[in-house]
Amino acid sequence: MQDRLVAIIAHPDDEFMAAGLLIRAKSLGYKTHLISGTYGEAGRIKGQHFRGDREEELRSIRQKEFDVSCLLLNVDRYHNLGLPDNRAADWDLETASRGLEDILINIGPSIVVTFNRDGGNHHPDHIGMHKITVQAFGSLPRGDYKLYFNTLFPRNFSQIHAMLELPAPLMEKMTIDDNEVSAILALTNEEHLMKLSVLDIYRSQFPDERGLYYKMPLRVLEAVSRYECYENFDKGNVNHPPERSDTDVVLFDLLL
Ligand SMILES: [Zn+2]
Repeated sequence: MQDRLVAIIAHPDDEFMAAGLLIRAKSLGYKTHLISGTYGEAGRIKGQHFRGDREEELRSIRQKEFDVSCLLLNVDRYHNLGLPDNRAADWDLETASRGLEDILINIGPSIVVTFNRDGGNHHPDHIGMHKITVQAFGSLPRGDYKLYFNTLFPRNFSQIHAMLELPAPLMEKMTIDDNEVSAILALTNEEHLMKLSVLDIYRSQFPDERGLYYKMPLRVLEAVSRYECYENFDKGNVNHPPERSDTDVVLFDLLL
């Protein structure tokens, strides 16, 4: 069977974090799937929060943006768990993870990626999707697929510092322990440009400038988005040991 990559996110536009991997996997012959937890109906548009019945309108706007993004990334299929946006405290994690499990069984993925335990930016919906994914993963027979978390940059990996050339305080904010990074994906120019153009699609969320996505200057966004870091959940299965020096972290063509 053809290899399949599944990226699990919380809101339309979160796919940006794994867009490079989706693009790379596609070019290597993978089928790619995106699963969003919500429709993003509680988001904001051009600075104004949508509330009440206007949520329906925003949901439809964001769905259209998501459709275009999936088209750009050449995603084979997308799914939605239909969880209420921005209300992770109300989510029934059991039911949601069973729903996700059914979708995953249907897809038969080789690789699944989602947020790390901090949700990338501590957003409760992101953390919720991390929990739901880990729970669904636990219910499936081990060995069927590998689960990876999108994560920050390895703190002591000098190669990353040289590549990013960011000021020290910013690197401090954007890094974690080396042993929480299993793979670094370095995008080609073409892949990187395609990834950045995802941000142009989400006009409802980032009407002014691409950099607003990560609340950082465009120059910084462009530097960091060229690389994607992933942590293997089940490190026993990864092709290199979890205890390794910084020089053992290599740039993968695709996650191993
Ligand atoms: Zn999000």
